[in-house]
Amino acid sequence: MVEEIRTDVVVVGGGPSGVGAALSAAREGAAVILVEEDAMLGGAAVDYGVQAFSPGIVCGVNQEIRRILAEKDYLYKAHGRAFCSHWFAYACRQLAAAEPNLHVFTRATAVDVLKEGNRVTGVVVLVRRGADRGMATLRIRSHVVIDCSGDGDIAFAAGCEYRYGREARSEFGEVHAPEVADRKVQLCTWMFKSRRIDPASTYVPDFDYNRDIGFGEYLHWGCQVECTDTTDDAALREAERAAWEVMLPHFAILEEKGFAVTYVAPRLGIRESRRIVGEVMVTENDCEEGRRFPDAITSSNRGLDSWEPDRQKIYQDRTPMYDIPYRALVPRGVDGLLVAGRCISATHIALSGFRVMVTVSSIGQAAGVAAALAVAAHCQPREVNVARLQQRLESPPHNVRWSKHWQGA
Ligand SMILES: Cc1cc2nc3c(=O)[nH]c(=O)nc-3n(C[C@H](O)[C@H](O)[C@H](O)COP(=O)(O)OP(=O)(O)OC[C@H]3O[C@@H](n4cnc5c(N)ncnc54)[C@H](O)[C@@H]3O)c2cc1C
Repeated sequence: MVEEIRTDVVVVGGGPSGVGAALSAAREGAAVILVEEDAMLGGAAVDYGVQAFSPGIVCGVNQEIRRILAEKDYLYKAHGRAFCSHWFAYACRQLAAAEPNLHVFTRATAVDVLKEGNRVTGVVVLVRRGADRGMATLRIRSHVVIDCSGDGDIAFAAGCEYRYGREARSEFGEVHAPEVADRKVQLCTWMFKSRRIDPASTYVPDFDYNRDIGFGEYLHWGCQVECTDTTDDAALREAERAAWEVMLPHFAILEEKGFAVTYVAPRLGIRESRRIVGEVMVTENDCEEGRRFPDAITSSNRGLDSWEPDRQKIYQDRTPMYDIPYRALVPRGVDGLLVAGRCISATHIALSGFRVMVTVSSIGQAAGVAAALAVAAHCQPREVNVARLQQRLESPPHNVRWSKHWQGA
């Protein structure tokens, strides 16, 4: 069974970037369909148990999510950065439900793109249609598709140029890059939580990276494992097997010390996979030198934070404030498509800092506003008037901020 639907903008992926993109496109007046394969919105905050915000410019949709968390989530109220996955999903759901132009298709997997020449004209989505109808293929035609899948699966299907792995130091003069390029990405981590249940226990967990989030609870950035290819399900299964081998002894220590493991994320967390090559690529030097771009759509000063495959973690607290340019969201050579989130055009090293939820949410919003402007102007995303995009992005209801608004140190 094949069904045809038409809309202005399709967003694939309902993580922080996809929710930002879908809300902003809809609020800017476009008819939007958000396609998410899970039952809940939230992306890594739900799938990977990423239950804490890293620093960045708090604005726009991320700020709206935080307001809902502050009303509903005991943990966020008490901690200010840590939250519970289900309240994050709830916040995304509430914001989406308030937008009449936005239709959310959860439990729907985008499996391919529709294309005419070098222009993406929609996506192909698999859904289930009931006991007597079985599975259906939706062909959703749109003026713009926004790939917020994290892995860049949609842009890959569209034939976009991409990077996977680490650039050689010589390519962009990045001091933290390896001498020789390779196909390795950041380590995967399986997040979990533990709680002190023996009141007499004074033990403080001292393995992996963990954070005391109050109420006797700890959020663990659990075992780190290498995955040979984070876009290959077989390789992910093997990495998950390896992760359980590391985690089980850790769980045993916790239980011996009077703790219970109260939560294991539904999936092994993937930090990095494809990065789609855009009209501009953000590099380590842009971050370290606090580069300002004329087409800035948001900014970050979060330091490099790469969980390197050789376990030599690269970590800096801060960089100068640097911009993310709109052109990093515009795939080179393919029309009708934008990318947002952790799959935008950046080197392995540069991505490691700004990939966090607060920043990718604003990147998503920029893609959403740009897509709606392209619909209104009957133009391609690469032809969008950047001054107009920036003006809309910084104005209500989007309220995105970047270096030009930054008052901090
Ligand atoms: C272990 C780990 C720890 C982290 N710690 C932090 C932290 O402490 N603080 C912080 O701010 N950030 C942290 N991050 C980074 C951050 O969570 C991610 O970089 C960010 O969520 C990326 O957002 P995104 O929207 O690009 O992708 P994601 O959040 O991965 O969302 C992608 C969404 O797309 C959906 N999707 C994918 N393919 C399809 C398809 N074909 N059809 C339909 N839906 C699809 C997925 O189901 C998912 O919901 C961490 C990441 C990891 C892995």
